[in-house]
Amino acid sequence: MTLPQIITIDGPAASGKSTLGKNLADWLGYLYFDTGVMYRAVTWAALRAGIPLEFETEVTKLAETIDIDVCPPSQNDGRAYDVLADGEDITWDIRRPEVDGGVSQVSAYPGVRQALTAQQRRIGLRGKVVMVGRDIGTVVLPEADLKIYLNASVDERARRRYKELCDRGVQVSLAAIRENLMARDRIDSTRQVAPLRPAPDATILDSDHLDASQTLEAAKNLVKRFQ
Ligand code: C5P
Repeated sequence: MTLPQIITIDGPAASGKSTLGKNLADWLGYLYFDTGVMYRAVTWAALRAGIPLEFETEVTKLAETIDIDVCPPSQNDGRAYDVLADGEDITWDIRRPEVDGGVSQVSAYPGVRQALTAQQRRIGLRGKVVMVGRDIGTVVLPEADLKIYLNASVDERARRRYKELCDRGVQVSLAAIRENLMARDRIDSTRQVAPLRPAPDATILDSDHLDASQTLEAAKNLVKRFQ
């Protein structure tokens, strides 16, 4: 048996998908690709261009034309990668609260999803990839060899995100983060196109009582079953 060539990790906001995805990809020597940055980049670009997020046609046009690039980190400031939009470094801008507040509205637009899913699928089908998001195992790469659905309670997820933002010096309350996570989960899991849900053949991991290294161990054990 060979190693799984395409690995997907889906799950709700702040469940630890990015940390697990990066660690697992580093362990395997695979590409780590976080699809959330693409939806965030479109949201950020719309906000900056002054396009109201409820203008679906304009936001969709933006998603179809924006050039989003994810490259190795150019700075040693805690980033795992650079995110560029039309050549501009927006790595930290896409983590701002106004992007958190608007991204689920933008990602519910079918035209936006169509534009971004096509790019994600092209990258994923090259193989040796760990792709992270909400619909990767269900829609983007349903043929993936290993599908993980990473879950955690909303309280635990809010605590983790709060600590992450405090460490970066961002001023925000725990209650506001919890509210935002719940709102995003609600929109993400009830939208018409590609809602957040585990693929029928996904393995569900609950990370509530696992730290990052224990979560990685659990995922490594799933990979080792292929050998
Ligand atoms: O993963 P992250 O929290 O950065 O994703 C931001 C938002 O992008 C999610 O809340 C969701 O609305 C959207 N998203 C999506 N499909 C993906 C990845 C992210 O709809 N594959």
